[in-house]
Amino acid sequence: SSSSSQVLPLRCSKAGEFETQVKSLKTMADIHGIDQEMLEKMVYDALVWSSLHGLVVGDRAVKRSGEVPGVGLSHSPIALMPGLFPETHWKQACELSSIFNELVDRVSMDGKFLQESLSRTKKGDAFTSRLLDIHSKMLQIDKKEEIRLGLHRSDYMLDDKTKLLLQVELNTISCSFPGLSSLVSELHRDLLDQYGKVLGLDYRKIPENHAGNEYAEVLAKAWTEYNDPSAVILFVVQAEERNMYDQHWLSVNLRKRYPLLEGVLRTDGTLLVDGQAIAIVYFRAGYTPRDYPSESEWRARLIMEQSSAVKCPSISYHLVGTKKIQQELAKPNLLERFLDSEEDIAKIRKCFAGLWSLDDEDIVKKAIETPDLFIMKPQREGGGNNIYGDDVRKALLRLQKEGNEEDAAYILMQRIFPSVFPTIFVRDGICHKDHAISELGIFGAYLRNKDKVIVNDNCGYLMRTKVSSSNEGGVAAGFAVLDSIYLT
Ligand code: ADP
Ligand code: MG
Ligand code: MG
Repeated sequence: SSSSSQVLPLRCSKAGEFETQVKSLKTMADIHGIDQEMLEKMVYDALVWSSLHGLVVGDRAVKRSGEVPGVGLSHSPIALMPGLFPETHWKQACELSSIFNELVDRVSMDGKFLQESLSRTKKGDAFTSRLLDIHSKMLQIDKKEEIRLGLHRSDYMLDDKTKLLLQVELNTISCSFPGLSSLVSELHRDLLDQYGKVLGLDYRKIPENHAGNEYAEVLAKAWTEYNDPSAVILFVVQAEERNMYDQHWLSVNLRKRYPLLEGVLRTDGTLLVDGQAIAIVYFRAGYTPRDYPSESEWRARLIMEQSSAVKCPSISYHLVGTKKIQQELAKPNLLERFLDSEEDIAKIRKCFAGLWSLDDEDIVKKAIETPDLFIMKPQREGGGNNIYGDDVRKALLRLQKEGNEEDAAYILMQRIFPSVFPTIFVRDGICHKDHAISELGIFGAYLRNKDKVIVNDNCGYLMRTKVSSSNEGGVAAGFAVLDSIYLT
């Protein structure tokens, strides 16, 4: 039955419980009924395709796989076939992209708003406090960022009950998978091009996805704006990164078209790139306290912020992406301070789920009574940090009892329950049928130079799918697989 989770070895026998029932699927929703022989062929093809096209990640089991490229590669965890997604919601998500880009830019210009909104959080959360320190130094010296570059990803879930597209969060720093997500869409399109006829599915219902190329293009445009042909783009990355190929996709795409060099950030805090000026600092690190093991990393971050380079993101953009600011912006009449178009405001508000601060006593009481309807979130990125279920109740009771400032480190969010659909997961060369929920991310890019908005676009998408019983969603964190979408 399609409800059980079966681990199917690649070369498993065709007899017994895996016997074929249907050949042609009527819809993607029947995917678990796929012919066993065809399933095995498709998985095999997907694994070959991934290996040949660089849809790969470093293998946890191989020690140097996060440091040395070409060592210990594994195919990325993927869904074998795209997840169903209604076209209307897909269009809605794409349309929201440019409005959120503009919102981030507007909010980033209001230093006072950022400092005030995060003033309590500062007391409860040491990491955010350090970011705010850098931000206030920039306010003190009246640092102007004329060229502003945002490479954001707004993540959504489709709430099953209300059929509303609700925003999970807006990422403004180190948005991962522009490179690999484009490849998954291409893989799925290729697979359905080959097998779609027999399955009764059409590869053209999978939207093309060029996030990797488009991000490289926008980085190049920002470099052009900086207008110093000898300046370089600096990628700030973690010393150990198993998702390095997603990053290499961007830098390779860039180097194909532009004469760019690679830079290094010294651990003593000095920014040295073969004596070259730096045009853009592109952060694929720096979003977690783990990236700042000593004072020298904080010094480096400050030096970069003070420099004339374009920061992606600037400290202001980074702070706009915090969960606390997401929650503040959901308060009544807040969007009106930053956006002029009533239509845009309405569109954005429609995708806001319930968001609350922990000083809202009624909500805290409700969350203690019905913790499953809420998620508690600290000011962290990268997955694996949220509090769910009965732990919400326990954490809230503990914070109430202690009565210190720690509660300001968190926000409460309405738990979204997305539609559940059958999926075929492929991990570590093994496929496995299960029921899943998905999160759709839309990559957005924003580039402006003074008053001129040069880019304000959506740039492809990321679909992540995980078993429906799992709380967290990160691919790198090991919870989800990469996916694409099949429009319905
Ligand atoms: P991070 O910045 O660490 O990615 P998120 O806010 O995206 O933090 O939360 C991590 C994961 O938790 C998400 O990918 C999603 O799977 C799940 N999640 C977060 N918020 C909600 C919510 N309101 N409803 C349901 N699941 C959520
Ligand atoms: Mg995030
Ligand atoms: Mg997230």
